[in-house]
Amino acid sequence: MRTALYPGSFDPVTYGHLDIIARAAPHFDRLVVAVFDRPNRRLRFDGAQRVALLREATSGLARVDVQPYHTLTVDYARAIGASVIVRGLRSPADLAAEQPIAQHNRVMAPDIETFFLIAAPHHAACSASIVREIAALGGDVTSLVPPHVAAALRNVGAEA
Ligand code: ADP
Repeated sequence: MRTALYPGSFDPVTYGHLDIIARAAPHFDRLVVAVFDRPNRRLRFDGAQRVALLREATSGLARVDVQPYHTLTVDYARAIGASVIVRGLRSPADLAAEQPIAQHNRVMAPDIETFFLIAAPHHAACSASIVREIAALGGDVTSLVPPHVAAALRNVGAEA
């Protein structure tokens, strides 16, 4: 059984994340999409909401399992038996950020490889932070996130 782990904050899940999930999943028996519970930044959605939005977005995808996690990524990968960590690269800036993380993960867990998928050109400008910013100012995010995520963003906007 080959298990891969796709970790992130997914605040919220975007079509860019979903493209990586759909492309990676067929190459493994199981792809665990893991939502990091406590990233070092302010969040729009709490952990349970981010998991629920991702579960709804991936409900039609076989082999994909969405779970929360709060430990080191390599420790979580070991705990679920994943031999591969999947990450997406949109730009040289993403590579610059991802390279040291992958290298430190490699030192801590030489048995776990990081696989990078290059973002599709039409998703390369899509980021959760841009989505949050546009939505917070009342803009239309329907080309960037699934309808249920756009609705959830409208609701948090209404509460704020
Ligand atoms: P973001 O960087 O959008 O806040 P995350 O921290 O949740 O998102 O990122 C999880 C992973 O998904 C990272 O490897 C990130 O580079 C990747 N990713 C995010 N958006 C896209 C996209 N539009 N296309 C491809 N990969 C992406």
